[in-house]
Amino acid sequence: MHTLNADLHSHSNVSDGTLGPAAVAERAAVFGVELWALTDHDELSGQHEARAAALAQGMGYLSGVEVSVSFADETVHIVGLGVDIDDAPLAAGLAATRAGRRTRAERMADSLARAGIAGAFEGALAYVGNPELISRTHFARLLVARGVCPDLSTVFRTYLTAGKPGWVEHRWARLGDAVRWITGAGGIAVIAHPGRYTRLGPSAEYALFSEFVAHGGRGVEVMTGGHGEAERRRFADMAREFGLLASRGSDFHSPAESRTELGALPGLPGSLTPVWQALAHRIAWPAGGAQSAGAARSPALA
Ligand code: AMP
Ligand code: MN
Ligand code: MN
Ligand code: MN
Repeated sequence: MHTLNADLHSHSNVSDGTLGPAAVAERAAVFGVELWALTDHDELSGQHEARAAALAQGMGYLSGVEVSVSFADETVHIVGLGVDIDDAPLAAGLAATRAGRRTRAERMADSLARAGIAGAFEGALAYVGNPELISRTHFARLLVARGVCPDLSTVFRTYLTAGKPGWVEHRWARLGDAVRWITGAGGIAVIAHPGRYTRLGPSAEYALFSEFVAHGGRGVEVMTGGHGEAERRRFADMAREFGLLASRGSDFHSPAESRTELGALPGLPGSLTPVWQALAHRIAWPAGGAQSAGAARSPALA
């Protein structure tokens, strides 16, 4: 088993998390994370704060982003790790991906209004930390606060998923574009939480992995908050079959909401190659770490 405590998937209030980037970093350090990446949805504006806070907390840092992609009938998330956050094509691609969110949110609010829930757009905006990033999560928090549903997963099940009031179809980025934005910015593209794409049947799932690799994608999350033991095994097998690097990330959003704490997942199986070993040159370590002569501070990339 790989022993480095890496958590390479988490969110701040720059997207749909509830804590600021520095507060997520502090919490990650408290829970023993040694190498961290903040991966906000379609957005890089938290990266400077995250990196500085990670180094101040004594953790290594990899830049990160989680890109929303439409593939077949499913929304698929592609995490980019180790990207150059000043890369212009990546920034333009993410801006284009964010652009439709406001109109989508207005349509979601219209749909909720027809179901008897009024004022949801303005209500959800009160939960938004970044006006360019209104997400379903912000609507879900509003409906819980109003007492419409007891918790977020009930909101998603009852209102915000396909066929339910509050759901609107949306076209996100194309798979090949997302992978190219990430790899063009010097990063590695990783399929996020593959166990969650239940609208894909086995053959569409196989197509997702095949096309992802053909476009230059190189990693898959094996250890993620959403996976049970069977999915961990299944996607470890998929990683071997497709020659993919393995990643580990909690997908932490909020202390009150997230079932999986930062840094708390089991380590990756020793038979897989961790994505961070291929990204050693992109990791920022705290002063006194691997990039300075002492090399005392940074853990071995095991
Ligand atoms: P959006 O990008 O606006 O479609 O929102 C997607 C986000 O909704 C995901 O990144 C999750 O944070 C959240 N989400 C999706 N399904 C659920 C669920 N069943 N329970 C809680 N949060 C969810
Ligand atoms: Mn989210
Ligand atoms: Mn996701
Ligand atoms: Mn996520």
